Order: sequence, then structure tokens, then C-alpha cells
Amino acid sequence: MTDRPQVRPKAEGWQQQKDASGKPLLQFTEVKKSKPPVHLADLSVAERAEWAKELGLPGFRAKQISTHYFTHYTSDPEQMTDLPQAGRAELVQKALPKLLTEVRRLTTDNGDTIKFLWKLHDGALVESVLMRYPGRITLCVSSQAGCGMNCPFCATGQAGLTRNMSAAEIVDQIVQANKAIANGELGGKRKENSEGPERVSNIVFMGMGEPLANYNKLMTAIRTMLEPQPDGLGMSARNITVSTVGLVPAIKKLSEEKLPVTFALSLHAPDDELRDELIPVNSRWKVDEALDAARSYFDATGRRVSIEYALIKDMNDHPWRAELLAKKLNERGKGWVHVNPIPLNPTPGSIWTASTKQATNEFIYRLEAAGIPTTLRDTRGKEIDGACGQLAAATD
Ligand code: SAH
Repeated sequence: MTDRPQVRPKAEGWQQQKDASGKPLLQFTEVKKSKPPVHLADLSVAERAEWAKELGLPGFRAKQISTHYFTHYTSDPEQMTDLPQAGRAELVQKALPKLLTEVRRLTTDNGDTIKFLWKLHDGALVESVLMRYPGRITLCVSSQAGCGMNCPFCATGQAGLTRNMSAAEIVDQIVQANKAIANGELGGKRKENSEGPERVSNIVFMGMGEPLANYNKLMTAIRTMLEPQPDGLGMSARNITVSTVGLVPAIKKLSEEKLPVTFALSLHAPDDELRDELIPVNSRWKVDEALDAARSYFDATGRRVSIEYALIKDMNDHPWRAELLAKKLNERGKGWVHVNPIPLNPTPGSIWTASTKQATNEFIYRLEAAGIPTTLRDTRGKEIDGACGQLAAATD
């Protein structure tokens, strides 16, 4: 076999921000600190009852309003006829302030994928992507406006971090998607013989942002997703995937929550030399540390971990890298992990491209031959720039 070249990460058409020492800048602090209004979805069930009490209302008012929001997906006081007419509009405005304003939506030709562009109260923009698959409906949600992790192959990272999203801003993406589904706006074929109302069944934190850099809001949002209706969305933890660049202390914290949430590590390179350039946070936590943390996650939760690997032509798709990856995973045991390669999605200004079919197949073959379960992920939403790494939330 001929030796393949080694392309190094280099961006064209945009300048990667650097810190004082010349390393790619990592932003953990928000640029903009404008807090969105507090919403019922920011509060636990106990805090909601407290909230009602403070307003001099009976505790069950909070439950009534929650029911409208979490089961009927409405924030419209007109529809809440079980609340006293006097002061209803003001009360609902206080409990369920509008958090997301739809700016634009793009739909694929066959209608089974919708990308929403949302404006937050302070003008910050975020996106979510709704996808119908046979037997499930997945929403890819954002956890931050922008992202501070500065990965050069991801469109979101190019603009840096604006701010963390609140728990309710995260949850409201799901409520708005459920509303669109209930209104029949998501196309595609429904599962045969299925009846009753449909809603989002799976969440992936693979939209804009680094979820583990917004840890507390992420956990509050997840708890509200898990809370049975009418107090929450009654979703299943197994159907929620948290994806991270590898913030090791936060991964440990997440394992201690003992929730069977699905965990995904965006690895993209098994060697520190390349990963230092592809995933700038690798300067803090190396490949081995991130893999150890992923393995501990499996030990704590029993949930099989996913390794995300965007295949980039001649950069990280060499057969020796597949073998090194398999070796590092096998060293940490069997049956605890699977690999999800995904052909790189194009982003503005990047000179690199997805691996060839042949290189992709070879990469998968080598992993599988080493006993690592591997599934090629689809590039759903690419035609509307809604696929992984393409969310830039621009209005034009
Ligand atoms: N910050 C988190 C979640 C957002 S990105 C994380 O990095 O995991 C969700 C997934 O899309 C990650 O696995 C990310 O590495 C991947 N991704 C980013 N840019 C991509 C691109 N251009 N093509 C394919 N996948 C990409």
C-alpha cells in the first residue's frame, strides 16, 4: 500500500483565535452576560410550588401552568381556561416568558428534517435540528450560543462563545419541536401501525455549544426532560445523548449523577499530536485521560459509550490511526464502547474534505477486525447546513 500523506489542520478564510501564549483560545467564560428571564422550566417541581406561594397563589397553579406547557406545548394564556381570567395573562407571562423566537426554518425536500433558527431574548442566535427516523424522532439541541472550544473543523467554534443557555432555553427547544410535530409540520413516513400523538423521543446535545461547559444548566434541563408529565417531558435518560470534546472533571461529575444518559466523546484522533490541533481542549486533557474518563462513565452507569470520529481526508483517516484507536479502546476492556465515524461535513472556509469511501471503509474494517463495534453515522441535514458541525446560526 502506498503511504498516504498527512494533512495538518489549517483553516482558510478565517483566523483561529489564539491566547497570549499562542495556543488556540479556549473560552470558558461568557462574553455576554445577559440573563434570560426565569421560566418555570428553570425550576424544580418544589421550586415551582415555592414560586407560586411567593406570588400569593395556591401551589396547584404552578402544576396547571406546567401541564399546559409540558403536555400541550402552549404558553398562550387564551388556552388556559382553567386559570382565573383576572390577571391570567400577566401570570402566564411571568411563568412562561417567551424564550425562543423563530427567525427562520429550513426543511429538506422530503420534509423529514427541519432546522430551526431561534433568536434568544438578547438577540443571540441558536439552532436546533429535528429529524424523523424509522421508529424515533430525534432533536439535536444547542446548549450554548456559540462555543468556546475552538475546534477548527466545526462551524460553531469559529465564532467563539457568546453565552451559556439557561435550562429553560434548552428545554424550550424540545417544547417548540413537539409543538411543530403536533401541528403536523414534520414530514416523512410515520412508523406503520403507530397511533396517537407523536413527539420528540431522542435528544442529542450535538447542536451548538459544549454541554459540559454549561454543566449546571445542562443538568437542570436534563432533570426537567426526565421528570414525568405534567411536571416535565417524561423522556427516557437512555434516549438523551450528551456529547463532549472531553472536559474530564465534568465527565467524572456526570458519572456521579448515576443517570443512564448516553455519553459520547468527540475524539477525532487517537494520538495527542494530531488531537492537540483538532480539539484544542486536548492541551488540558489528553487522549488517554479522556478515554479513561469515558471508561469510568461506563463503569458508573453501565451505559455503552460512543466515540465520535469525523473522518477527514488524509488528516485522521489513516489505517494506522484506526488500529491505534482500537488498541487504546481494547486496552480499557471489551464491550464498553462503540465507535461512530462520520464523514466530515463541509464548513465555510475549511480546506479539508470528507474521507474517500475507500478510506472510510478501510477505517471501519480495521476497527471491526479488532473487535470494536462501529457504525457509520449519517450526514442528515447536510443540504440545509444542519448536519454535525455546520450550525453557525447566521441569518443570511
Ligand atoms: N461540543 C460537543 C457537542 C457539539 S458537536 C462535542 O464536540 O461533542 C457534535 C458532534 O459533531 C461532535 O462529535 C463534533 O465533533 C461533530 N462535528 C463537529 N464538526 C463537524 C463536521 N464538520 N463534520 C462532522 N462532524 C462534526
